[in-house]
Amino acid sequence: MKVILHPMNHDPFPIIEDLFSDVNSRSLLVLNGFSIFDLEKKRVILSERCGKAGITAESIFEIQAPVSMHEADKANFMSMVSKLRRAEIDRAKGSFRFVSDKGEVLWLSLAFQSLGKDIRGGPLLIVLHDEDITELQNTQEEVRERLMEIASLKDLLFAINKSLDFDETLSRIIEHLHRIIPFDRATVQVLEGAFLAVIGSYGYSQHLVKDLRFLVRGVDNPSARAVATRRPIICNDVEKDVSGFIQVGDGMIVKSWLGIPLVYEGRSIGLFALDSFKPDFYNDHHIRIASNVAEHIAIAVEHARQHSMVKEEARTDELTGIANRYGLETTGQEIFLRTSKADQPLGVLMLDIDFFKKVNDTKGHSYGDLVLKTITKSIQQNLRTKDYLVRYGGEEFLVLLPETTTREAFIVAERLRGAIPKQDVDGKYNCPTISIGVFSGIPGSQDLLHEFIHRADLALYEAKKAGRDRCRVWNSKPESFDSRPPA
Ligand code: GH3
Ligand code: MG
Ligand code: MG
Repeated sequence: MKVILHPMNHDPFPIIEDLFSDVNSRSLLVLNGFSIFDLEKKRVILSERCGKAGITAESIFEIQAPVSMHEADKANFMSMVSKLRRAEIDRAKGSFRFVSDKGEVLWLSLAFQSLGKDIRGGPLLIVLHDEDITELQNTQEEVRERLMEIASLKDLLFAINKSLDFDETLSRIIEHLHRIIPFDRATVQVLEGAFLAVIGSYGYSQHLVKDLRFLVRGVDNPSARAVATRRPIICNDVEKDVSGFIQVGDGMIVKSWLGIPLVYEGRSIGLFALDSFKPDFYNDHHIRIASNVAEHIAIAVEHARQHSMVKEEARTDELTGIANRYGLETTGQEIFLRTSKADQPLGVLMLDIDFFKKVNDTKGHSYGDLVLKTITKSIQQNLRTKDYLVRYGGEEFLVLLPETTTREAFIVAERLRGAIPKQDVDGKYNCPTISIGVFSGIPGSQDLLHEFIHRADLALYEAKKAGRDRCRVWNSKPESFDSRPPA
């Protein structure tokens, strides 16, 4: 049989004649993927596979691409056959897709060989050998997909490691993922008590997801289940499968949903949720990729949380739990800048406990600590949430009062002073009094927070000088410090 593929050695035509007449040899040929097109006598032996794929006599005699052939491959097929027929080439090879009625794709590798010469120089015979390479192609396709996934994951890890800005990291992770998994919208949610809070999103307008929270304790929905079981969940018919699925109100209807829990050290810490507007969309393949990515998101989320916790700790005074001077340098500066931009007055109070050294000296240092905590609590209870209280030094406190004029700041100062309990913690001793320096101004672009603080500090000095347990307002003429609220 091999002789056919090496026809130059001797005249193959007698053998070919035998093949056309001998049923046994022909069936052997056909089963082994050989087809013969006799262009002179218009006879055809068609291999089993070619027959099934839809290759016909016309494919070669009339140079017609098989109807079942994938549209994208037809031009190549016609060009090959034309060239063979015009004897421009005597052999050709290519891979072609054939699509069945059911949409299944069969890949055939076709090797053509022309034999003999007619009077116009065209071949007498075209021998075709076919090979089913569907599996090979599918494997290659899978390898290509995997390579793309790996490349995307590499980009993703790079994004996670490179950026210290968590929000940026998150949006880059989701963007990278979009290259490998199709979704219309996505959210990253973190567990906060009984709720999942959205901390990052893709495809949503920001105002829709900002502050969005989903209850996951004591309810039964896919998010709650994914978080509780630490297993991914697919809902491919959201409207039917999930009663009470929350469609976020932008008119788009989520049909398929994939939720991957974010698991860190065995604990669910959040959820990565993908939405598709197409029904019946997600499968195990998507779970596999998304789970891979979710692992990295979980690490990034947890590290960011720890990072912000450490940062928060560094800004907090251990004894009193309020901000320390490092906090002042960050949050305080932000408040100063904000009021400056808004062209609003910023009130600054500098508070100092009177004769505190004596408290320590007579009742001990740890008792002094208790007094510090008591006074802190009293101040805290008499401030608005937008005010910012800082332990500025040992027994000195600073308060920033946004949108507060001098007169208002003085009133606040008097209120704070008046609120200090008369008796201290256990009611045994008198609580020390406080003195307060007051300043307020609209920060100009050239002004510094520390200049404002310095003025409040000068006023405090005056309050101490005047006998303590009082408030004083900074005045450009230092002799006119007054304890009355300015008009
Ligand atoms: P004045 O009315 O002039 O402010 O008198 P004072 O005694 O309060 O002033 P001084 O600055 O001389 O003393 C402050 C004292 O505060 C000294 C220090 O031992 C005490 N102190 C600072 N930090 C702490 C603390 O964390 N705990 C305790 N128990 N005492 C502290
Ligand atoms: Mg003091
Ligand atoms: Mg002091």
